[in-house]
Amino acid sequence: MLWTVAVGLILLLCFATLRQRPFDPEAVRHFPLAVLERGRQFSREVSIAATIRSLLSLGLMLALCFHPVGTRVLRWLERQGRGRFWLALICVALGVTLLTSLVELPFSFYLGHLHEKAYGLSRQSAAGWFADYAKHMLLNLTLSLPLWIPLYWLMRRWPRGWWLPGAAFNIAVSGLFVLIYPVVIMPLFNQMSPVKDPQIVAMIHGLANRAQVRVEAISEMKVSDKTSRVNAMVTGLGPTKLVVLLDTLLQQFSRDEVEVVMAHELAHAAYQDVVVGWLASGAGEVAVLCVVAWALRGMVGVGPLRLAAPHSPRGLAVLLLLFSLIGEVTGPAQNIISRRAETRADRFAITLTGKPQAFVSSFKKLAAGNPGDVDPPPLVEFLSYSHPSVTNRLRAATQMGR
Ligand SMILES: [Zn+2]
Repeated sequence: MLWTVAVGLILLLCFATLRQRPFDPEAVRHFPLAVLERGRQFSREVSIAATIRSLLSLGLMLALCFHPVGTRVLRWLERQGRGRFWLALICVALGVTLLTSLVELPFSFYLGHLHEKAYGLSRQSAAGWFADYAKHMLLNLTLSLPLWIPLYWLMRRWPRGWWLPGAAFNIAVSGLFVLIYPVVIMPLFNQMSPVKDPQIVAMIHGLANRAQVRVEAISEMKVSDKTSRVNAMVTGLGPTKLVVLLDTLLQQFSRDEVEVVMAHELAHAAYQDVVVGWLASGAGEVAVLCVVAWALRGMVGVGPLRLAAPHSPRGLAVLLLLFSLIGEVTGPAQNIISRRAETRADRFAITLTGKPQAFVSSFKKLAAGNPGDVDPPPLVEFLSYSHPSVTNRLRAATQMGR
């Protein structure tokens, strides 16, 4: 049932993206037709590759959990633990992660490197891309093992009620992750340094004062050796809160444009969107783990996987499959919440700076530098966009400017 909805959603989104349709007059007012066509072509290609990647990855997980050949692979991985529970769990976690990464690799390489190169966005060599991919994979494993091990410890101790302390533990860990992200994770991939331009620093402090946001540090992240994409963010929590500007933003955007982009990012901090998002995903975590606990109990002694107990190490594959299915199915609800926060941040940025023209011109540059469909089908935007479409953001900004 869950997997039918998830696969249905993935296919629906892909077909809706591929359908031909005319451009919104608001989009035509802001962008040359060539830019609109190019963005739409870009997003069609992304959609096809991402759909195949999701379906293959889900198919692999379903086969591992429910097909006799797949379950044989899981049993073999479990046996590599030589009867030691924790070693068996680690072998299953490593094996499943490696298998899914392997199946996804060609599509990730196409999406992350070849396709970006074809559109003149990537400045990285293939070797550089693979090095980053390997780093991501290692990081994933090192971060996920300390998550699975305590969860399985709880499962063994409280076979029925483990999900509640399990969710509390996951919420605490994800909070810790948000906290250390700017200081530990970000520097692993990109060079970070304090912003040198005193005018930009003064402008950001001025904005932060007016937005009543405490800003500890302002950093420039060097990405121009890898990509021409532009972005900015406010990450971390409390003492680790960090304002980050990509060096591409500083190179390509005028002062006023940087100002509205930063005002938008500071709005997320002013409204505590990171904390709200963390708490909301925590509430979701409780529900998800409750469903997972129920499903694992139901799979004991059933089907080709025939779990010996809900906490059998090979059951980790079921847990991972459920996580990704539930993620697909609840994605639209998360996107509705996220789009609301983005619309509010846009309004906040225009009010705080009083520069709707700079907002519009920054989006024109963003759309040229980060190609994508600026005018997606409403259904696709509703289900899968974490931000409102560029056309809808420009429409709102133009109305505010009047
Ligand atoms: Zn935002």
